[in-house]
Amino acid sequence: MTTPESLTIDVVVIGAGPVGENVADRVVHGGLTAAIVERELVGGECSCWACMPTKALLRSSTALRAARRLPGAREAVTGGLDVAAVLNRRDEFASHWKDDGQVAWLESAGPPPSPRRPGGPRGGRGRGGAGCRRE
Ligand SMILES: Cc1cc2nc3c(=O)[nH]c(=O)nc-3n(C[C@H](O)[C@H](O)[C@H](O)COP(=O)(O)OP(=O)(O)OC[C@H]3O[C@@H](n4cnc5c(N)ncnc54)[C@H](O)[C@@H]3O)c2cc1C
Repeated sequence: MTTPESLTIDVVVIGAGPVGENVADRVVHGGLTAAIVERELVGGECSCWACMPTKALLRSSTALRAARRLPGAREAVTGGLDVAAVLNRRDEFASHWKDDGQVAWLESAGPPPSPRRPGGPRGGRGRGGAGCRRE
């Protein structure tokens, strides 16, 4: 039987959405330690399911409609939306629902360990890259 490693953390944040990341950021920059527990994807609803992918999804049709309204541009519009390309753009913005990059970013965030903050998990810095994708 193995003994789990023991760890002392000042604040445990449940959920690595925008709020959780910013809470951890404030905790760490206030001189305490933070750990974030996420059951799904770092980035949460906004990056992975809501704000970012939905806006990426809508952008192509918005641009097409705007071009069709504009004399001089509408003449260049000869086709309709490429639905597969639109969906692919959405998937790209959600990093194909992989958060490896954002996890790496989160792990490296926060000030370096100090005597007050031994080298355990660090908190995040608030919103970093766009979408689940880290840029
Ligand atoms: C279609 C749509 C479009 C939107 N567009 C915008 C916009 O343009 N601008 C804007 O400001 N807001 C927008 N929002 C709202 C925005 O998505 C939310 O306000 C924001 O994501 C809330 O952040 P949060 O950190 O509180 O929660 P969430 O982003 O939901 O993050 C919570 C995290 O906690 C995790 N979690 C939950 N329970 C547990 C548990 N027990 N253990 C471990 N992990 C757990 C979840 O997996 C999740 O990752 C939009 C929402 C929708 C639905």
